[in-house]
Amino acid sequence: MVQGRAVIIGAGPAGLTAAYELLTRTGIKPIVLEKSDRLGGISCTAIYKGNRIDIGGHRFFSKSERVMEWWLRMLPLEASKDRPASMLLRPRKSRIYYRRRFFDYPVSLGKDTILKLGLWRTFRIGMSYLYSALVPIKPEETLEQFFINRFGRELYGTFFKSYTEKVWGVPCSQIGAEWGAQRIKGLSVWEALVHAVKKVLHRGGGIGQRNTETSLIEQFLYPKLGPGQMWEETARRVTEMGGEIRTGHTVNRILTEGWRVTAVEATNNSTGAVERFAGDYFFSTAPIRELLRSFDPAPPENVLQVSDGLVYRDFVTVGLLADSLQIHDDTPQGKKPIGDNWIYVQEPDVRLGRIQIFNNWSPFMVADPSQVWLGLEYFCNQGDEIWNLPDEAMIALAKEELVKIRILDAAAVRDATVLRMEKTYPAYFGTYNRFGEIRKYVDRYENLFLVGRNGMHRYNNQDHSMLTAMLAVDDIVAGNTDKNGLWDVNTETDYHEAKEKLSRYS
Ligand SMILES: Cc1cc2nc3c(=O)[nH]c(=O)nc-3n(C[C@H](O)[C@H](O)[C@H](O)COP(=O)(O)OP(=O)(O)OC[C@H]3O[C@@H](n4cnc5c(N)ncnc54)[C@H](O)[C@@H]3O)c2cc1C
Repeated sequence: MVQGRAVIIGAGPAGLTAAYELLTRTGIKPIVLEKSDRLGGISCTAIYKGNRIDIGGHRFFSKSERVMEWWLRMLPLEASKDRPASMLLRPRKSRIYYRRRFFDYPVSLGKDTILKLGLWRTFRIGMSYLYSALVPIKPEETLEQFFINRFGRELYGTFFKSYTEKVWGVPCSQIGAEWGAQRIKGLSVWEALVHAVKKVLHRGGGIGQRNTETSLIEQFLYPKLGPGQMWEETARRVTEMGGEIRTGHTVNRILTEGWRVTAVEATNNSTGAVERFAGDYFFSTAPIRELLRSFDPAPPENVLQVSDGLVYRDFVTVGLLADSLQIHDDTPQGKKPIGDNWIYVQEPDVRLGRIQIFNNWSPFMVADPSQVWLGLEYFCNQGDEIWNLPDEAMIALAKEELVKIRILDAAAVRDATVLRMEKTYPAYFGTYNRFGEIRKYVDRYENLFLVGRNGMHRYNNQDHSMLTAMLAVDDIVAGNTDKNGLWDVNTETDYHEAKEKLSRYS
């Protein structure tokens, strides 16, 4: 059995998965260094007065059975003699809010959509789709071209443009088509039509939805207490098996000799003390821009130029507690509270990007389930006017926008809090088109494994982030030093060719 010591940067899903896999499958002892005081990284659960916030809404769904089984081993769906059930199976519901009305998401071209859009707009959508089908833009280089080729210019403008540009803060014409390929794999007008028909013919289904197009998955697993529960449980087991996790430790120096990493240095955030951690294997889930600036000796100038130019998008969530909302679902039994997990706000006259309704993720997320607990999501750049707004002003903005788009009455608001999370989205613009130069450099370090989302600058969900960590441990066990397998996770080729298909969703 392989022995030694591993140093892992970051206690998010990728770092904790790496630690757990090492402890269960090798003789390597891991130490995880985490700069924040939380476990789970972006997939943590924050708590405000007993109300839980999931940053971004984390569905636990994967086309990888290895990941699905791993999650269910960690948090069971069914109660057993010695363990209570801690995973829920939740229905997925999310819609687009546009012109103060709801539209299906994923876009479904059914009767309801057509009635809400009106015949003239539907006709224009049909014509522009036909045009794009007959005369697609070639080569397809930008995200705008990707959308137009699949949906036509009109449908793109109606349902995708405003929200996507809020997410990225730049026009879709400046974003690479690759992002669309990962996020909206295979979804098209044709899929949307088929989906509308299937919805009428067939409802329900189990959790095995591996043949469903990835944006159309209708159920998902969700830990009762939010995603952080998964990572707190993983951390508990890691510690129980002899692994070490140190929060409040920021890694800011990577020491190398030749093509090997020998140690890292971390600063204890409360005392300022710097400690050195030597090891045989090193895993990093830290943002590549920061990681490469910590290398000692420094990487070549061209590599630093590329890593310094990588762009990230940051995120502000306003947790807002209200007595009720103004929007309802009309059912044969009358008006009911809306059942959406989240709503995409496609309204161009507000900065608000998305609304989470945490009650619908898990009733255990809310201290008093008779109240509505919302997450109002603003995509921004660290240091811009949204990021820098004082909490009170941020809350006022969120409230004002919700009233403006007729989601709630200001008098219904009971409490609110603000949470900022940096580097939530690694962007596929900036110097990303020269990413190969970074990869060529870091891959030469045999005992260094870049895994996860920001760790690989990939738009990876938890499952992909975990798989990269699992594959890295597979490589260590097998003595394989080739890193190509790791970079293949969550790529189009992988998606089409691998036996175990992976997915991007939401
Ligand atoms: C809005 C949004 C919605 C999402 N929805 C879903 C979803 O529905 N389903 C899903 O599966 N996934 C979803 N994800 C993706 C999921 O959050 C990520 O895939 C996952 O958290 C990535 O795990 P990671 O360990 O690679 O990185 P992270 O979660 O970013 O964790 C990295 C950790 O490293 C720490 N760190 C960074 N630098 C240092 C340093 N120098 N020293 C020490 N520690 C450091 C950070 O503090 C952090 O805790 C979503 C993400 C976002 C932003």
